Formats: sequence, C-alpha cells, structure tokens
Amino acid sequence: MMLNLSAFANKFLGFVQKERDNPWLKWALRLLSLSSAISPAGWPDSFPLKDGYKFDFIVIGAGSGGATVATRLSEVPHWKVLLLEAGGDPPPASVIPSLFGALVHSKYDWDYPVELDPGTGQNHADGKVYVGGGKMLGGSSSSNLQVYARGAPEDFDQWNEVAPGWGWDTVLHYYKKLEHMTDYSVLQNPYNAYYHSTSGPVAVSRPTANAYYEKVHEQVLGSWEEMGIKRLLEINGPEMLGGSRSHFTFANGRRSSTAEEYLRPNKDRPNFYITKYARVTKVLIDSMTLRAYGVRVLLETGDMITLYANIEVIVSAGTIGTPKLLMLSGIGPREVLEPLNINTMADLPVGKNLQDHLMVTLVIKGQKGFQTAVQNLLIPTELDAFPIPLQAAFFRLNSSLSKHYGSTRPHIQLFNNRLGATAAPAILFGCRATANLVREYCYSMSEANVYREVDLLSLILLHPKSRGQVRLRSSNPFDDPLTEIGYFRNMKDLALMVEAIKFMVKVTETSYYRKVGGEVARLAVRGCEGLVYGTDEYWACYAVNTVNSLAHPVGTCTMGRDGVVDERLRVHSIKGLRVVDASVMPVSPSGNTNAPTMMIGEKAADMIKEDYTERIDHMNNENVREFSQNDDYY
Ligand SMILES: Cc1cc2nc3c(=O)[nH]c(=O)nc-3n(C[C@H](O)[C@H](O)[C@H](O)COP(=O)(O)OP(=O)(O)OC[C@H]3O[C@@H](n4cnc5c(N)ncnc54)[C@H](O)[C@@H]3O)c2cc1C
Repeated sequence: MMLNLSAFANKFLGFVQKERDNPWLKWALRLLSLSSAISPAGWPDSFPLKDGYKFDFIVIGAGSGGATVATRLSEVPHWKVLLLEAGGDPPPASVIPSLFGALVHSKYDWDYPVELDPGTGQNHADGKVYVGGGKMLGGSSSSNLQVYARGAPEDFDQWNEVAPGWGWDTVLHYYKKLEHMTDYSVLQNPYNAYYHSTSGPVAVSRPTANAYYEKVHEQVLGSWEEMGIKRLLEINGPEMLGGSRSHFTFANGRRSSTAEEYLRPNKDRPNFYITKYARVTKVLIDSMTLRAYGVRVLLETGDMITLYANIEVIVSAGTIGTPKLLMLSGIGPREVLEPLNINTMADLPVGKNLQDHLMVTLVIKGQKGFQTAVQNLLIPTELDAFPIPLQAAFFRLNSSLSKHYGSTRPHIQLFNNRLGATAAPAILFGCRATANLVREYCYSMSEANVYREVDLLSLILLHPKSRGQVRLRSSNPFDDPLTEIGYFRNMKDLALMVEAIKFMVKVTETSYYRKVGGEVARLAVRGCEGLVYGTDEYWACYAVNTVNSLAHPVGTCTMGRDGVVDERLRVHSIKGLRVVDASVMPVSPSGNTNAPTMMIGEKAADMIKEDYTERIDHMNNENVREFSQNDDYY
C-alpha cells in the first residue's frame, strides 16, 4: 500500500513536472494555493484587557510600523509588550493578493476624508481624494497593492542630514533584516544578490505570469527602452533608474503583510499581548513630569479603560492617525490645540509637513479589436498574484528644472497597467466608486476601452515640494481629523509633472504603439474645456484636475531637531513616548512606502533595545521576578 502510494505520488509529480506549462494545470495549482489563503488563518487571539492592567511597552496600531516594532520588542522575554489595534483580523480579500480592490471603502479601510484645495481636483466629485488606510491587523500592509520598493540611497542620506543614523548603509541593513527574497533571478546574480536577503520574515516575489501577460511586459518595457528608460533586472538593486516587472510583498498565494509575517508566527510568545478592536483615544501624560504613562482605550465591549506603561508608549497609528492621537493628547501646535481647549503639553509641529506621492494617469489607447479581451479572461488565473500585467520604472527628467530636485535620485515613478478591450465597466466602476471621480471624466476613460486595449500609465511625483497638514476637527476622538493634502501648492511640482507628462506622451511614437496606432485618449477633463490640447497649459490643467493619490502620506511627525521626534524617534520634550510609523519620514522616499515603514519598525526596535540595555540586564535578575509576582493579571 505504502509502495503504491509513493509510486502514485512520484508519477503525479512527474506529470506535474512535464506539464508544468499547461495553463489548466497552472490554474489548478493556483486554485490550490488560493485554498490555503482562505483556510482558517490562525490570527492572534484577542487578549482580554481590564482597566488598570500594566505592561512594559504599549504599542498603538498593528500596521507596517507597529506590528514590526512590537514583535521585535517581544523578543526580549522579560518585556511585556501590548499591541493595541482598532481593527480585527484581515479578511480573505486581504490574504489573497489580487483582491485588494474589495477592501476599498469597506469596514477594513479608515477611508479618512482627505481634502483637495479649492480649484484642485475638479474631477473629484466631492473635492476629496482617496488615500485609504488599513484598519485591521497589519494595517495598510494588509490592504495595499503590495508593490515592493525601498527608495534610493540618496533619500536616506537626506534623512541622515536631519536625523543622524538613518543613512543608506544603516537602512540597507534593516531592509535586509526584514526581507525574504524568493526571486531567484535576483539571487543568482551576485551584483544584485548583495542588496537582498533570504533570512527575513517578509516574503518578496516576482511570479512569472501567463504567456499573454509576459508578452505585454515585453511590449511595454521594450517601448520604454526605446525612450531611454533602461531595462533592468530589478529596480531594488544596484541600479534604480530604469524599468522592470515589479517585485511584490506576496508569495505562494498569500499576502506578506506584517500580520502574516510578524504577528502570526510570534503570537504565542508568553510576553506578547495583542488586543483587537481596541481603539486608543488618548495617550496619558503626566503634566508635572511630562512623561507618558499610559493610554485610554475603548474596547469592543464598549468599556473605556486605562492601561499603564512601565517603560514606553509607542504610537504607530499611521500618518493621519498618529498626529490625530498626539494632538488629542496635548502634543501639537498650540494654535490647533488651544481653540479646542486642549492643554498644550508640548508645542510641536505635529500634523505639519504632510506630503504624499501624487499621481497623474494618462490613458493610452492601444491595439484595436475584441480579441484583446482575451487578456481580461486570464485574470482568474492570476488571483494568487497581481491580477493584471504591471510594469514599473523610475526615471529622471533632464530639463534645467530637474537640478532643483537633486542629482541622482529619480523624479518620477512610473506604473503601467494594461487592460484588454471590454474592461470598460470595470474602469468605470474603479473611477466612479473607488476614486470618486465625476461621471463625464470616468465615461470618457471607459469609452476608450470599449473595443481597444488601454494602458493606464501613472506618473508619480516622488519628491513633492508641496505640503499639507493634518489638524483636529474637534476634541472628539471619534471625529475624523481635517486633512488637507496640499497637492500642487508649490508650482515647481506642477512644472515637473507637466514635463513628465510631455515625455511620456511620446511613448505613442515607439515601435509597438506605432504598429497598433497607439494614441493618448482625450478625456473629458472638467476645468480644462477650451484649452488647446497638448499645450503646457493643457497638461498643467489636466494634472491639477485629475490628480490622485498613491496612498503614501508621510511626514506628519517628522524626525529632526525642528520636527516632532528626534533621530531615535522619541517625541521631543516628552519622556517615555515614541512614534514608529510612516509619519516620521522627513521626506518621501523614491518609491512606495510600505517597505520603508517596516524598515523603520525594525530599526526602532533595535534602538529601543539599545536604549534599555541596562534595564534588560537588570530585568534578567531577581527584581523582575518580584515585579511579575506583584502583577496579578497575567
Ligand atoms: C490602498 C493603499 C495602497 C498602497 N499601496 C502600496 C504599495 O503597493 N506598496 C507600498 O509599499 N505601499 C503602499 N501603500 C502605502 C503603505 O502601505 C503605507 O505607507 C504603510 O503601510 C504605512 O504604515 P504605517 O505603519 O505608517 O500605518 P498603517 O500600516 O496604516 O498602520 C496604522 C495602524 O494603526 C491602527 N490605528 C489607527 N488609529 C488607531 C487608534 N486610535 N487605536 C488603535 N489602533 C489605531 C490602524 O488600524 C492600523 O492598523 C498603500 C497604502 C494604501 C492605503
């Protein structure tokens, strides 16, 4: 019987090996991996809290920064670490890599209202732009698009100028610490392998797709190459200026969120306490000593309780959530707090310096004919990966303007998504329901795709000079904060974007697009009626009025002497309080912000461990046992 089984298994594996390129077999294997994604996930149980409980560290927010720092702190066995998260477990739509769209505007999304300035974004139905934010274990790492990017070395050298210790060599160490690279094409090349690691928790992959998608990758990357955007093996390696297929934070059909890679494997540590549906409303600060000593929390039961921190409170509630919480706790600009009768404990520029990667999308009409719809039929075979072909690049612009933006860093990140003909209803839905753009604009966009394939070519401004601000709307912790995103407040941003658009429009002059009669779709852009199409004035109007967010807000609790936290992420003037999330970034990195935020979490944990080395030694002796015995609630 055993022999028969093993013979059968060998035969089956031989068949799989021989037929591995058969699309049906690939599909079946992919479905099997999906079944693992929706099987019971084993997320952490919620620790039942009671009023008055004490911990060593209380971390607020289980997102990219919070879950990372909390998990690493719990490696110190004598530290009692509590992680509080306002949301619950990630649903299957989070775990399955392709279903991120289902989370938008759902109960798993904070969906903060983010205001555009009057006169900006006239195609946004309500003057707001969608920025999103995951409300669940893993935070936005559980809801994002999973593109993996780390930024340019020069970004971190710039951080290092205001916050010593954050230079490229140091942060590369932490990027490697968090990364589990599974892409052998990169690992086999020693030149690239140096920049990667296989020993970290966060799985990074670049799965091969079906043959049709691979052809699309070739067409797009080949066209970019003709324009001077060099083809690279990858854009997280030794060179960054160029294009390639993207790396993603998913592998084997599961999203590599911080909930998946940090919390799930370590949830059973006896000193690690994770409580879900626990919404922190205030950090408690002693007004005499200016020390943070605890938090007020609303539990799922409706009980409002107080918890105490022996060592530190760490705020990781994200770029909008963290400044809101600090301001509610009396840390923020006096001019914001006083009118709301909030006692100012520390007058710091909390909420200022808000910056975001703004995005302008061109629609390129490509090959004509319903046969291109075949591509859309292949989407179900790619559910365990990114569902449509995506290409990415970084490039610099050459005009005299660009020297204001630094010398070697990319100015622009480029993403291209191809859709076959007949995806018009999906485009319309995404444009209207997700991005909340106006009817005539969305109709004109979807019309372009009725019987032609389209490329949605998104240009992202990596180093905006414009700044917005997060303020409190009221002193009620359950009111959304007032978030002004501030796009194009600085006209240099607009000039650079116009230059980028004019450069990318030329993609229609490359061989592939010429062959298929490629052209830029003329969309019905509200606010630009009457302007001559293709002029600088037209593209400026187009950019200002169709601008969107790549959902990368950063900077509201910036590091630096004149910022909110110091280079060790300690809040100025307040003891026992740190911030560990995307809000501490002084300037946006060149690329997506999830990996940089996890890197911040990793580095923060090491800094905290260093800061309390003496205490660790001390806690390893008798005193700790005494402390534990006196505590009656574990
Ligand atoms: C839709 C979307 C797409 C994106 N796509 C990409 C991408 O493809 N690649 C990429 O690199 N980056 C992407 N990003 C950005 C990236 O995910 C974020 O920059 C990063 O996750 C931010 O991490 P964070 O720790 O600062 O905040 P978050 O990960 O958002 O964590 C904040 C956590 O705090 C919790 N919280 C907030 N307030 C409270 C409170 N009062 N009490 C308790 N808990 C609270 C939240 O529920 C959340 O879990 C995307 C973001 C979004 C929203």
